[in-house]
Amino acid sequence: MTCRCTERPFGACSASAGAFDIARRSVSLGGMETVMAKIRPRGRPLWRPWLLILAGLALCWVVFSLSFTAFKSAELTRAMARTRLYQAVLSEALDRFQHLPFVLAEDPALRAAVAGQPAGDLNARLAEYARRAGVDALYVMDRTGLTVAASNYDQPLTFLGQSYGFRPYFKAAMEGRQGEFFAIGATTARPGYFIAAGVPGPGGRGIQGVVALKIDLGALTGVWDTPGEKVFVANADGVIVLASDPALRYRTLAPLSPARRAAVDVARQFAGEPLAPLDWRPGRNSEVRLNGIRFLEVTTPLPRLGWSLYFLTDIAPIRQRALLTALAMAALLGGAYAGYLLIRARRVRQALRVSQADRVALRSINRRLEREIEERRRAERRLARTQSELDRASRLAALGRLAASVTHELGQPISAMRTYLTAEEIGAESGDRMLLARLGGLIARMENITRQLRFFATDGGTPAKPVEMKKVIEGALGLVRHDLDAAGITPQITTPEAPVIVTGDRLRLEQVLVNLLRNAQQALAETGATELKITLETEGDQAILSVRDRGAGFGARSIEELSEPFHTSRPSGEGMGLGLAISAAIMEDHGGTLRASSRAGGGARFDMILPLTEEAPK
Ligand code: ADP
Repeated sequence: MTCRCTERPFGACSASAGAFDIARRSVSLGGMETVMAKIRPRGRPLWRPWLLILAGLALCWVVFSLSFTAFKSAELTRAMARTRLYQAVLSEALDRFQHLPFVLAEDPALRAAVAGQPAGDLNARLAEYARRAGVDALYVMDRTGLTVAASNYDQPLTFLGQSYGFRPYFKAAMEGRQGEFFAIGATTARPGYFIAAGVPGPGGRGIQGVVALKIDLGALTGVWDTPGEKVFVANADGVIVLASDPALRYRTLAPLSPARRAAVDVARQFAGEPLAPLDWRPGRNSEVRLNGIRFLEVTTPLPRLGWSLYFLTDIAPIRQRALLTALAMAALLGGAYAGYLLIRARRVRQALRVSQADRVALRSINRRLEREIEERRRAERRLARTQSELDRASRLAALGRLAASVTHELGQPISAMRTYLTAEEIGAESGDRMLLARLGGLIARMENITRQLRFFATDGGTPAKPVEMKKVIEGALGLVRHDLDAAGITPQITTPEAPVIVTGDRLRLEQVLVNLLRNAQQALAETGATELKITLETEGDQAILSVRDRGAGFGARSIEELSEPFHTSRPSGEGMGLGLAISAAIMEDHGGTLRASSRAGGGARFDMILPLTEEAPK
């Protein structure tokens, strides 16, 4: 048997199986070439799952940061556009009435009124102007600040009779400048934007009073209220004067200094509002924290009064959008990784299938090999048995030749001795008869030995002729009957009606049966029993001739031991231990076997088993 192994990388599979190396091994077993595949993880895998997870998380973080920056910048652009819009609308609202007080100051009725002359229907006219212009109130004050005419003359909270001399816009107008001011109404308690101009007296010289208008900006801020956004306007002191969220109104972005606080109080600008500071913390990158919430902040100055417009956008939705983008990225990565794992698992399965198929092939080769080995062992056993049988046969043949020459050489001297002894006995005295009887005994013993030797000296050739087994029994009994009778043994013979025919040499088969009968006789002599049964029967295609006795038996010895040449339990001169050896050889020559077994209740049974033949005996 030759076994040759070569190992080389499994090129095609190692490329396709990803993280696995598949080594293919060609094996030549009993002349058949087969392949064994070995799968093992490739080196130390770099793509450890936790590394992949870390890399995935890092990537998601990068995606989150980038998308957050991008969304923020887009939101800033949008916020700036919205801020510009609010700024334009507010500026337009303030600018629209800039010149109205100046124009009204030219009215003679107003000039007369500030000079203390009767105003006539001025109140009604002012009310008509206010309604048409869409302003909150129009009113005229004399040089002390006392209101002498007002558009809301007929309303419960009229300005008429009220003095506004403390208002900065009044003071500015009296000084010839245009007065502008934002304040909560001292009379109405409603916030408004005041624009004022000085009114000359009837002669046109010197400023005798002030005409002012009040615009309600509340309507403007009403449209600012959009969810997620905060819009407010803070004045130069940082006080929020207009706001989309009423909670922010009249709060400050920073605490007011005591001096500014005093000025505000003097002007009664915020009608006793506490002006509490907000939790306002500007941060980096246009971010600000208002009451702990992060906002994007865009600020633009308003040209009038040093105001600033603040536009705040909630950052949370931006962060949510960035988070969603990162999650989508994570899902994408997870999907890609799952796909990779699926493909990898499929390839591993493929590789395993290849290896499995190889294993099955190898197993079948192994089985074939085992069968061959078993067959070889059986052949070897047969050879050894044949060898030992050959040895035994050749030993027996040599023994036969030796026996033939010894019986031949001793036969004549012994029979001569017997003749001389008989002649001597005739004329012998009674004293010599004893000696002669002893000599006769010795000669009988010598004859016994030569008879046994003659038994072995019989020619080994087996003529293949049909033999009737009953004849074999008759022939053998004819040879031993005398001895059996002398021992008081009467064999019980059982034979079938039909002839039992085998192929072989009748004399040699008789020789076997004679040996079995003599052995039985000797065994019976040891126990004193006399039961001897000879049975002939057929079983399938075999003839079985059994000899059963009630002798001492042969104990635990096997037929192989018993039929070993020179194996005997008889004393010297009575047995040579060759009978069963010769008998077994003769049975084998006939294609049969000799079987021995102990009988229940004591004794031995010997079976001559021979193949049956159909041919009639000649
Ligand atoms: P031998 O009879 O000369 O001893 P055999 O080969 O015929 O040689 O027998 C071998 C031995 O087998 C005997 O010595 C005896 O011990 C045993 N044997 C044979 N036949 C019987 C039998 N019928 N009963 C008991 N033992 C037997």
